[in-house]
Amino acid sequence: RKFIFVTGGVMSGLGKGITAASTGRLLSNAGFDVTAVKIDPYLNVDAGTMNPYQHGEVYVLKDGGEVDLDLGNYERFLGTDMTSDHNVTTGKTYKHVIEKERAGDYLGNTVQIIPHITDDIKRRIREAAEGTDVCIVEVGGTVGDIEGMPYLEALRQFSHEEDEGDVLFTHVTLVPYSKNGEQKTKPTQHSVKELRSIGLQPDVLVGRCEDRLDSETREKIALFCDVPMDAVFSNPDVEDIYHVPLMVEEEGLDEYVMERLNIADEALPEGER
Ligand code: ADP
Repeated sequence: RKFIFVTGGVMSGLGKGITAASTGRLLSNAGFDVTAVKIDPYLNVDAGTMNPYQHGEVYVLKDGGEVDLDLGNYERFLGTDMTSDHNVTTGKTYKHVIEKERAGDYLGNTVQIIPHITDDIKRRIREAAEGTDVCIVEVGGTVGDIEGMPYLEALRQFSHEEDEGDVLFTHVTLVPYSKNGEQKTKPTQHSVKELRSIGLQPDVLVGRCEDRLDSETREKIALFCDVPMDAVFSNPDVEDIYHVPLMVEEEGLDEYVMERLNIADEALPEGER
């Protein structure tokens, strides 16, 4: 089984979820059975009690799960139904671990974020991925947020536990224009530095920008972030978010991801997608 972990840098509301869902859509077009997990690093157990003015309307799943709107994107982009197990929150994870502690399941051991919370996060991801070919895991929030740290640590451990070539890290960042019309890469460089400081090296970088990244910008990002230039993609502004899969397909994101995950030869030929 393959896993794609999607993190975001610089700021939230960038289009990390849409990028993740688009990647999933392209892999599903290529014949793979794709699912997704959304990680929400808040202490609420689910989105059911959250003020819709802060997070948007709660999205209700088939099993009655009340979750973040992003799950709706995944259901629509992937054409599959999800359950509340596909939404991991800090509230759910801690509640479960604390209940186990009260039941004496840890046999007197000190219960800690590492390994008990991180183990529970990894278990939830593996269970949600069961029976599929590819599982896309989106970490809500931005790299560097205190709340997100246990998740990034869990993903770091996870990537070492899986076989080489089975896990891919995609990082979505902002590439703003300066006043004189230049695409600026510094925010991307800083957010990748932040990722690397916790032991994660992105394999794929997606720059959210008003326009496509020009080749000079991609070259600079590749150099400073230590990825090959063909691992740098753009997700430009579009009128309709359902065009994002087409935009990233034109850039060859799907081909690159399949190559990296060693599944390119199992994909449907282009004419049949
Ligand atoms: P994040 O996961 O980074 O918080 P989302 O994927 O939820 O961000 O997207 C945030 C908002 O930006 C949504 O309203 C989404 O529709 C919009 N959006 C995402 N990608 C694009 C794009 N390429 N062009 C225009 N709007 C976009």
